[in-house]
Amino acid sequence: MMLEALRSIVQAVNAAGDLQSALDIIVSRIAEVMNTEVCTVYLRDPDSKRLIFMANQGLNPELIGKVSLGPDEGLVGLVARREEPVNLDHAEKHPNFLFLPGIGEEHYHSFLGAPIIHQRSVMGVLVVQQKDSRRFDEDEEAFLVTMSAQLAGVIAHARATGSINTAQNTVGATASFKGIAGATGVAIGQAVVIVPLAELHSVPRRQSDDPQAELKAFAEALDAVRVDIRALSDKLLTQLPADEHALFDVYLRIIDDGAWASEVVAKIEAGEWAQGALSQVMSSHVRAFEMMEDAYFKERATDIKDLGRRVLSYLQASDVEPTEYPEKTILVGEELTASMLGDVPRDRLVGMVSVRGSSNSHVAILARAMGIPTVMGASDLPYTQIENANLIVDGYSGYVHYNPTADVYEHFRSVSEEDHALNQGLEALRDLPSETLDGHRMPLWVNTGLMADVARSLDRGAEGVGLYRTEIPFLLRERFPSEEEQRIIYREQLLAFAPLPVTMRTLDIGGDKALPYFPIEEENPFLGWRGIRVTLDHPEIFLVQVRAMLKASEGLNNLRIMLPMISNVQEVDEALELVRRAFDELLEDGWDISLPPIGVMVEVPAAVYQARQLARRVDFLSVGSNDLTQYLLAVDRNNTRVADLYHAYHPAVLNSLQQVVDAAHAEGKPVGICGELAGDPAAVLILMAMGYDMLSMNDNSLLRVKAVIRSCRFEDLQGLLDGVMVVDTADEVKALLRKAMIGVGMERLLQPIGSA
Ligand code: PEP
Ligand code: MG
Repeated sequence: MMLEALRSIVQAVNAAGDLQSALDIIVSRIAEVMNTEVCTVYLRDPDSKRLIFMANQGLNPELIGKVSLGPDEGLVGLVARREEPVNLDHAEKHPNFLFLPGIGEEHYHSFLGAPIIHQRSVMGVLVVQQKDSRRFDEDEEAFLVTMSAQLAGVIAHARATGSINTAQNTVGATASFKGIAGATGVAIGQAVVIVPLAELHSVPRRQSDDPQAELKAFAEALDAVRVDIRALSDKLLTQLPADEHALFDVYLRIIDDGAWASEVVAKIEAGEWAQGALSQVMSSHVRAFEMMEDAYFKERATDIKDLGRRVLSYLQASDVEPTEYPEKTILVGEELTASMLGDVPRDRLVGMVSVRGSSNSHVAILARAMGIPTVMGASDLPYTQIENANLIVDGYSGYVHYNPTADVYEHFRSVSEEDHALNQGLEALRDLPSETLDGHRMPLWVNTGLMADVARSLDRGAEGVGLYRTEIPFLLRERFPSEEEQRIIYREQLLAFAPLPVTMRTLDIGGDKALPYFPIEEENPFLGWRGIRVTLDHPEIFLVQVRAMLKASEGLNNLRIMLPMISNVQEVDEALELVRRAFDELLEDGWDISLPPIGVMVEVPAAVYQARQLARRVDFLSVGSNDLTQYLLAVDRNNTRVADLYHAYHPAVLNSLQQVVDAAHAEGKPVGICGELAGDPAAVLILMAMGYDMLSMNDNSLLRVKAVIRSCRFEDLQGLLDGVMVVDTADEVKALLRKAMIGVGMERLLQPIGSA
């Protein structure tokens, strides 16, 4: 019962238009469900810290928004200060009791207050009061606490944006939204919103030039869906019990009920495009149904949503107008993925913003590789409403500025110019060796995946490819590439770098890298079927890939093969066996190739502990610090909510990194690192001291890292590492590295730790 009440209140609040109506719903529904005479929400004013009487049921409505309590005043202040509920049967006897004159609470004896806490900070207090002197029971207390925990996020969001629902926020004239720095740099351009197909809630608002054409498209889509439903209904007539089958009649009735369709038509006539009109009308009906108490009607919300999606997909299919990309396109989406990048002409793409994800999502890595300033996890951005808007993407601080004022614009234009100047300055290092002042050589390799990376990498003096992410060409297609297609792609990479070595990683899909044509649905994709696990289960995919790599290497002999996501030695043994099989077959077929060096990626904690056993079996190790960090710290690299906890400077991560070097060297094998940490100019100081034989990074970091290497003395780094290894927190590590960077005159190359 309580659960049902909780759900319906949260739904009602989610459907509210703005903060005040949400608060009004909260107080009236809670008073009703808990059967109390009074319910109040106090919200803390961020500046004065006072607790303001914001919404109420049962007291004097005229004082709403007008009276407040000091941060420590009264029982409400006590709840806020203690950050825990206060439950009293005789409130007036409590020493903290303070009477707010005029609101009329003198008759209420029992008091139960719960703090409203979002991301560890108190936003306000939720209170219920009763005339009877009775103590609220445990269930009621638990209910109020649960309610307030659920509402905290909604209230925080509404406060930040002035609205409840991300997709429905209205944006003001100018606004700034906080996200996570995904790829450094500043982009100034125009938003193009990418929409996943057939998602009602994410359709952008857009004005149409031709309402008649939009009306026609809508009518046709509706007809098409009607035909589909009839066909589906006929097909299932004999297979479904009558009850279930009646669903189709419900669908047809919804389609034929002219009311919602005429709402859509009215919106189209008022200038909205058909998809936008459909999405707005359907979403509001869905919300209305979801709010109903009756279970039957609630279920109808799902039907309407489904129907809306069907109509939408027809509209999307008929929308042949290709997306137009302005000269300076900033790609915006609810969840940008690597495969969405392929559609935008590279010379027009200047920046990206994703509402979800974090700096370690693969799309962010790709963005860094391509040098595209990017903000991830901008969760408050009303992305459906900013099509074509002027945006500034600040990839340093993680802010997105919408419709910036002239001052803000000027500021970022000059930052962007400085960036440009810094990069130009670094160009001078291109042909200079990567060595310290006292002559220690540190080979710098690059991570690639796109052909476009190649020319730039060579231009910037890369000494090899430490990680070629083969899944990227897979991601950009509509089916698995054939052996011959793969051979051609790989040959191009190997040729471009020859005689420099190219380390090709076998397919690493799963996690956040789903192939559009090979979907993997899992509860816990990062702990699931990923990397080597997928390819060992599908030797045909693995063998085709390895054969393509081996064939591509003929006459060049600069191929290295690397295995991702290894968590035990059997996986290595099996993979080696398959590689050898492919190699023998090709030799038999007359290919003139040699067996390439084979390596293992260390990116799972188990591999750290078995690094020696792994090293013994292969020719080299390479640490994937992105995944190693995620798995060591149990922090999903893609999750905005825990992004603060993702720290490659965490002492546990640094200890593991040292352990892997020691293990590899004890077996006489070289070890590199190819996660993002290798491209962090400050981290490089300690990675060198740890003994890494090679650093592999995106080519945009290459000259920055080289600049740091050329400005320090290898001799001094051991002392720095010793200091780093004895501190307890990532923040202390960061501070030590910052000091060291200042010491070698490289302060300007410090980057936000989040991106490490
Ligand atoms: C890593 O995990 O550090 C790595 C290099 O692989 P990816 O980022 O592609 O998962
Ligand atoms: Mg990885």
